[in-house]
Amino acid sequence: RNWAESKLSGELLKAVEKAGYKSPSPIQMAAIPLGLQQRDVIGIAETGSGKTAAFVLPMLMYITRLPPMSEENEAEGPYAVVMAPTRELAQQIEDETVKFAHFLGIKVVSIVGGQSIEEQGFKLRQGCEVVIATPGRLLDCLERRYAVLNQCNYVVLDEADRMIDMGFEPQVVGVLDAMPSSNLKPENEDEELDEKKIYRTTYMFSATMPPAVERLARKYLRNPVVVTI
Ligand code: AMP
Repeated sequence: RNWAESKLSGELLKAVEKAGYKSPSPIQMAAIPLGLQQRDVIGIAETGSGKTAAFVLPMLMYITRLPPMSEENEAEGPYAVVMAPTRELAQQIEDETVKFAHFLGIKVVSIVGGQSIEEQGFKLRQGCEVVIATPGRLLDCLERRYAVLNQCNYVVLDEADRMIDMGFEPQVVGVLDAMPSSNLKPENEDEELDEKKIYRTTYMFSATMPPAVERLARKYLRNPVVVTI
């Protein structure tokens, strides 16, 4: 197993090397190339498997391929959103993201409960490429128009089963419905994709697949590849 096989770009490979990750874990080997191909992914994996970098690295590569943010337009972005059930998990994901993002000049903002929402609104209005959030607080920010997700076409639901268990399904759905649905891939897998178009890529990680999680996956993921480690 080596990083060269992961199909990450040179700058991402450099960031991985600087982070000290010698070789990719099995979930990283499986999930990273799928995200790079804009495939939707359901990952059945536990903490400790390296699942965070498995969705963070393709997400960052997606962002590096987008046209650069314009200086004048302060409210640009986010282009990718990660949702997680708890502040602690959101913090861990932020740490893992910043580890690579800071080599790439990608701005990451975390939006979780228990902190000043006005301050979070201020940070969002300055523009950022990635938002890492708990669903309730992010929906609050969207309702206050602190952020808009009309440029967001990359989304990760981490620990989806726990988010559902904690009663966050309406908030998760509210956030997903704030992204452009016109960019969802066609449900019919035989339909050809437009090569010039950016489609929404959705990653869902869950330790278990109860019916509510399956329902969510059926509604928002398109022909997902299931990766079990
Ligand atoms: P996770 O399963 O995403 O919570 O990751 C567990 C821990 O493994 C985190 O501290 C990561 O920083 C670390 N980690 C993830 N992938 C790698 C890798 N390929 N090489 C070394 N450490 C890693």
